[in-house]
Amino acid sequence: MKRAVFPGSFDPLTLGHIDIIKRSLLLFDEIIIAIGVNADKKYMFSLEDRKKHIEDTFANESKIKVKTYTGLTVDFCKSENARFILRGLRNSSDFTYEQSIAQTNAMLADVESVFIMCSPKLSNISSSIVRDVIRNGGDYTKMVPRSVML
Ligand code: ADP
Repeated sequence: MKRAVFPGSFDPLTLGHIDIIKRSLLLFDEIIIAIGVNADKKYMFSLEDRKKHIEDTFANESKIKVKTYTGLTVDFCKSENARFILRGLRNSSDFTYEQSIAQTNAMLADVESVFIMCSPKLSNISSSIVRDVIRNGGDYTKMVPRSVML
């Protein structure tokens, strides 16, 4: 069973995340979308809302599970028996950041990081840009799934 963990804050889930997840379904038997909980971080959406956005979006997809975790992503992977960490890449700054995380994770545990390049039309979308647009009253409906707009 090829099981991958897709870790992130998902504050909120965007069309960029969904693109990566859908395309990765071809590679894995199961994908655990794992919402990392960091007590020191301030979020715009509550953990319950972020979880619901993802569960509602993938309600008809049996290969996708949604979980929350604290601590190291590699420890969560071990506890879930997942050998793969899935991440999305938008640009070279994502690459530079992800490279050091992936190399550190490989030092810590027997996990393989797998990267999917985002679709060009979605490369401008990030949760932080969506939050900024929301805070300033802009139209964010082209950046997120329906479940986030409800
Ligand atoms: P984190 O707080 O760990 O960066 P995010 O929720 O912001 O969590 O992102 C989770 C993953 O989704 C990361 O691998 C990130 O690069 C990827 N991602 C976010 N937005 C996009 C997008 N528009 N296209 C492709 N990947 C994306």
